[in-house]
Amino acid sequence: MKDSYDIIIVGAGPAGSAASIILANKGFKVAIIEKENLPRHKHCGGCISSRSIPSLQKLGINIESVSLHKYKGFTMRYGDLVTGYDWGDMKVYGVYREVFDYAITNKAIDAGVVILKNQVKKLRMEDDIILVFLDNDNILETKVLFGADGIHSIIRKEIGVTYQKNKLGFCLETEVPATDEIIDSYNDRLFLDFSYFKEGYIWAFPKKLGKTINIGFGTDFHTVKNSKIPIKKILQRYAQDKSLFLPRIHGAFIPFGGTVDCFGRNTVILLGDAAGLVSPLSGEGISYALESGIYAAESAIDFFEHNTPLLESYSRKLNSIKNEINIYGLQLQKKMYRGRTHRKLMFKMCSKNQDIMKKLGEIFTQKITYEQGVKQLTPLKLLPAMVKALVT
Ligand SMILES: Cc1cc2nc3c(=O)[nH]c(=O)nc-3n(C[C@H](O)[C@H](O)[C@H](O)COP(=O)(O)OP(=O)(O)OC[C@H]3O[C@@H](n4cnc5c(N)ncnc54)[C@H](O)[C@@H]3O)c2cc1C
Repeated sequence: MKDSYDIIIVGAGPAGSAASIILANKGFKVAIIEKENLPRHKHCGGCISSRSIPSLQKLGINIESVSLHKYKGFTMRYGDLVTGYDWGDMKVYGVYREVFDYAITNKAIDAGVVILKNQVKKLRMEDDIILVFLDNDNILETKVLFGADGIHSIIRKEIGVTYQKNKLGFCLETEVPATDEIIDSYNDRLFLDFSYFKEGYIWAFPKKLGKTINIGFGTDFHTVKNSKIPIKKILQRYAQDKSLFLPRIHGAFIPFGGTVDCFGRNTVILLGDAAGLVSPLSGEGISYALESGIYAAESAIDFFEHNTPLLESYSRKLNSIKNEINIYGLQLQKKMYRGRTHRKLMFKMCSKNQDIMKKLGEIFTQKITYEQGVKQLTPLKLLPAMVKALVT
């Protein structure tokens, strides 16, 4: 007889684990299938934005207990223009993903979720049952399946949903050991450098308690493929300037061009990176992964308790995130990465006008929504600052 679960979740990242906690707390029989040994590493800057905090609170996760650094603001550089601001009481943290993600998974285990260390190979739908084929030749069955299996999602492929290549972004990332003195030179701020790439930025996220700085860069895949920019050398030069020695640098893809067109098929739905839920402005995806996990769980509860169609209900809940990413996020991406002249002008405006700088900071860290950001930074509202930046 096949093992059977009410809900099977593929992937123990923030999306999958978040969903499982809510479902297990409601008494459902839930399994997470994860191909890696836990705790597993995930290539990531490890910056937890203020947008993630309400979801973490809902899940009962105390971010302070896994945080390695609480940031007070950020510094941005473009060539010789350096600007930035401190954001006061906004909560933005630095973590190691293996620790952060495992804290959420442990909460799931405490709630009764079964974790299976397997790779999902394929799915088959039989009437209202989904058969899940594992790498050890076992077959599980379930009524509802969540694909929370990241950017290269096999579940997405199995249900025939595509994520177009031209929407992909690419990142390099490494965690660099650093002395207290070097870490303190960042003044508890995130550092973003927009000097080198048309469509992205270099980041340095200090993590005081871990005595490391996460250094990386992200851009769209097209730029990487076609550019002659020696990306690794630039990262190495940045590190050398700070007297840091870069360990091995890792490359990873990221959804950077909007969401999937369709969030699932029938009772199989896609969460987090598998659904393309990542900011096209900053590359931030943890908050969306958590939110999609919570929405997926709520939709599954409605499906089991009230027969509400799962995909419709989940898509409805995701609608505001979808618009946030596909409409406003992509608009901001165009504004931010429109080319060197435009970017220089924007930096000049920011360095001369703290209100604009503050707004940009609030947009980047998701203190305000992208929709609010687009509406508050209209060309008309920016005009006086633009004129000032052009004439001085
Ligand atoms: C270099 C880089 C830096 C980033 N920095 C940040 C940042 O600072 N802040 C931020 O908010 N976001 C950042 N992101 C984005 C963020 O990492 C993702 O959006 C987030 O991890 C998505 O969570 P998830 O749960 O959807 O997927 P994931 O975290 O990718 O988890 C998916 C899980 O599914 C498992 N899996 C995959 N296939 C299978 C299978 N067939 N069977 C079983 N298990 C499977 C994987 O092993 C993995 O554990 C960054 C991304 C990159 C690439």
